[in-house]
Amino acid sequence: MPSRESAAEFSGRRERLSSFLASYRLDAFLTTARPNVHYLSGFTGSNGALLTARDAAVLLTDPRYAAQAPRQVDCAVRISKRSLLVEIAKYVKQRRWRVLGFEQNRISFEEHQQLKTLLPEVRLKPVDNAVEALRMYKSEAEIGTIRASVRLNSVALEQALAHFKPDMTEVDLAAEIEYRMRLLGADGTAFETIVASGERTALPHAHPTNHPIQANQLLLIDMGATVAGYASDMTRTHALGRLDAKTRRMYKAVLESQLAALAAIKPGVSCAHVDRVARSVLRGFGLEELFIHSTGHGLGLEIHERPRIGRRERTKLEAGMVITIEPGVYREGLGGIRIEDTVVVTERGCEILTPTGKELVVL
Ligand code: ZN
Ligand code: ZN
Repeated sequence: MPSRESAAEFSGRRERLSSFLASYRLDAFLTTARPNVHYLSGFTGSNGALLTARDAAVLLTDPRYAAQAPRQVDCAVRISKRSLLVEIAKYVKQRRWRVLGFEQNRISFEEHQQLKTLLPEVRLKPVDNAVEALRMYKSEAEIGTIRASVRLNSVALEQALAHFKPDMTEVDLAAEIEYRMRLLGADGTAFETIVASGERTALPHAHPTNHPIQANQLLLIDMGATVAGYASDMTRTHALGRLDAKTRRMYKAVLESQLAALAAIKPGVSCAHVDRVARSVLRGFGLEELFIHSTGHGLGLEIHERPRIGRRERTKLEAGMVITIEPGVYREGLGGIRIEDTVVVTERGCEILTPTGKELVVL
């Protein structure tokens, strides 16, 4: 999983983190969450911790990454056979740091207790979503990587559907999609591929089953690839053969809702407003009650990032944010429809990164 960003980008991120953390009066900040360590240093291994101070940054990891880590990161590297927490404590003592910030939403209770025991003289200060807040604003390099991820995802769907046969099961089609992603150069999937048909489309997070995909039904596919660490996310709902009028009207409602939400995106607009726009279109069709999740979410190194495009999210959109827009309606016993694109907020509105069409496709 090579990283595409330049070294200067990582040191720039650590500088922004330091100024963000200035008000916390920390001597150093400990990052242990994998996507955050990746974001701040370029390191993609599964076991790493990063200590960032105004004048220093050090990545701590284990001997499995002795060759990989120095190639990936632009800061000091320490390899340790012992537990990372022991090594972190040793380094903090050496530097005589007195106040250490940590990621309150990422560290376990046990890890926190251990750090307290190892560093009795040091004040441990919880910090809320510091790196996640920086990660909301994507750089040009990050947008380029997400664009590549989104394109690959769309090509994988097109290729998988070209191999679609009427007697396929949901599992067969999910496997075909994931196989295509791999062949096209993805690191893997960003989440478990959702393929649901018939009534099962009414489950927003259905797991693929050995159900054969049958004629005259809905087929919902929600899929995402990871490319150079960055996620893509797309949902399309197709028809197999003829759909009844009620289902076709549901499709029309969801598509109008999605288009209206996309049109509402621009810098300065709150996430809650975009969510309201999507809901109000569905209300016009009498379907608002069947929309049981939020309108979208940020994505990047993780499939779900800030901001959430939901009712209570006051965050204002800004150019450079990458989000999904994915309204859906789910009627038990009948089926569900969801349409999802990945978009980047621009100075004037948004650019839809997903190239796949959204008119109802009959397979
Ligand atoms: Zn999705
Ligand atoms: Zn999504």
